[in-house]
Parts: sequence; structure tokens; C-alpha cells
Amino acid sequence: MRAALFYEPGRRLEIEDVPIPEPDGDEILLRVRAAGVCHTDVHIRSGRLPLVPGVELPMTLGHETAGEVAALGSGVKGFREGDAVVVWGARGCGRCRLCHSGSECLCSQATWLNGGYSEYMLVPGARYLAHLNGVDPLQAAPMADAGLTPLHAIRKVLPGLRAGDRIVLFGMGGLGHMAVQILHALSPSTEIIAVDIESSKRELALTLGAHHFVDGLDDPVQRIREITREEGAAAVLDFVGSDDSLSAGLRCLGKTGAFVIVGMAGGVLPVSAFTLPLEATLTTSMWGSFPELEEVLTLAREGKIRCETSVFELDGLNDALDQLESGKVLGRAVVVP
Ligand SMILES: [Zn+2]
Ligand SMILES: [Zn+2]
Repeated sequence: MRAALFYEPGRRLEIEDVPIPEPDGDEILLRVRAAGVCHTDVHIRSGRLPLVPGVELPMTLGHETAGEVAALGSGVKGFREGDAVVVWGARGCGRCRLCHSGSECLCSQATWLNGGYSEYMLVPGARYLAHLNGVDPLQAAPMADAGLTPLHAIRKVLPGLRAGDRIVLFGMGGLGHMAVQILHALSPSTEIIAVDIESSKRELALTLGAHHFVDGLDDPVQRIREITREEGAAAVLDFVGSDDSLSAGLRCLGKTGAFVIVGMAGGVLPVSAFTLPLEATLTTSMWGSFPELEEVLTLAREGKIRCETSVFELDGLNDALDQLESGKVLGRAVVVP
């Protein structure tokens, strides 16, 4: 089978022939039909994001994967060959407090189920697979992160929202354009302010349900303060996480507001009792749970959310990562191996 191999940071991925793995015990072999291309992999390829200690290289990246069950280990129950599935990618130790409470993404021993940039992928157990039940694999793959991560972040602020509140979303890329739709579906009376430094994303954001688009290069704080009538936003979700987006996000947050950092661009935000708006909360948000993945699949099945996709062949994966790095991908890049 053909797979994209990551040998070392700073080096382009190599597309090579490798043996098809055989599932054993609880393992399931997946024929990959679509794999979403995440900005995290841009950071891993460049070395900005360090790998988990103990990971053996070369490895195959790709943690938004959908396809069909191709073969099953003898211990697998609940799935049959040919079933259309999507992989829930977080694998914790299964024994700690966080894993037992459904937050495997936060487990200190969590590893990601990578391997989507390949014709076949070995999944360690049935508990990491969700049935598609009619969702197109090309749509289902990005739901595993580009859909799931915004849903998890939005769930953090939903309980505190009142009708008519304004939310600012920084970054209209793979996650941000899904966040607009998920927010619209779960909280229809929330006014959505989308921000991006690429004005080419204006039309997509407005079409998907954002009420305003603000150019991130043209004094976004001033513009957002005008829209929010100087009150500031009830919540800011930052899908970028750069110095600029964090700083701007904080300055347009209102008192008692919630600031959620999702993007991993590695920006730094100085925080003190005087820089945060009074009684505002600041938190991060990491991926999402299995039930939340089923929730985004339900929204996709009902036609309430749809991922805008730019499709690449496996040979074009490095191009997809390059385009993602330069902010040129509209929606989510998806590899079809
Ligand atoms: Zn990701
Ligand atoms: Zn754990």
C-alpha cells in the first residue's frame, strides 16, 4: 500500500510503498477513503510542535480518517467488513481519572491515532470507530477534528450565552468555518463575528451563517468594539492562537466573557488582573469526546453543517500542507488516498 511517511521535522513527507498491516485481536484494518489535513501536521512537519516522547519514526500522520472496515481481528465485535466508519483519534491510558470521565484527549499518556495519510490504517479497537450511517466519508473525515474540536470549544461557552449575545471567532480555516455552522445550529440567536486575515474567506463565512466578517489586518479590535457597542463580546474562540489573534481577542472580550484558545500557533498572551476584562474566564480547548463526535456526525447527517473541502491525492499531500501553511486552503484540505 502507499503511505506518506514522516521521517524527521523539517523534511517533506515521503510517499512510499509499505506492507498492508494485518489486524490482530481487537484491531481493525481500515481502507482509508478520506483523511482531513490538519494544521497540527503542518506544525509537526516543520518541527514547531514536538512529537510525543517515544514515537518511532518514520510514522504516518493523519488523524481525521474515514473509510471502510477492510478486515477484523478475531476479538472485534459490533463491526463487519465493509462498514463505513470514522476514527475518533484520541487514545488515553484508559485507567486514569480523566480517561474514566470521558476526557481521554487530556490523559497525560494520550497518543493520537495517526495513519490516515495512507491507503490502509490499523485501528487498535472498535471503541475508536463511529458508524457513518449515511454521511459521505469525504465529509465524515474532517468531522473527526475540524468538526469535533469547534463543537467541544463551543460547548464550553454555550451554558453562559444569552439570546442576542455576540461571539467572535478568530480564523475562518478548517475549524473556524465549521464553528460558524455549529454555533448557528446550536445557538441560533447568537450573533457571530468572523475574523480572518485572508479577505478571500469573507464570502464563505457570511454564506455559512456569520453575521459579520472582520478583516484581521484592518484594526479588527476597533471594528469589533463598534459591532458590540463597546460592551465587548460574550465569548471569543481563537482558532489561530498567534500573538496577534490572542492579543486582539482579549481586547474585544467583554466583562464576564469567556476566552477559549483552540489554535496551536504558539502565541503568548500576558495575563494579569489588569489585562483580563473583569471576571472574564480564560481556558484552552482540546479536541473532543466520542459522544461529541457522534453529535457532529448527526449535525452533518441532518444537513445542518457541511465541510467545505479542497480535495488532494496522496501525492499532493505536501502541496496541501504548504497551502495550509500559507493560509490558502478554503475550508478543509482532504486527501483521498
Ligand atoms: Zn487536528
Ligand atoms: Zn488516561
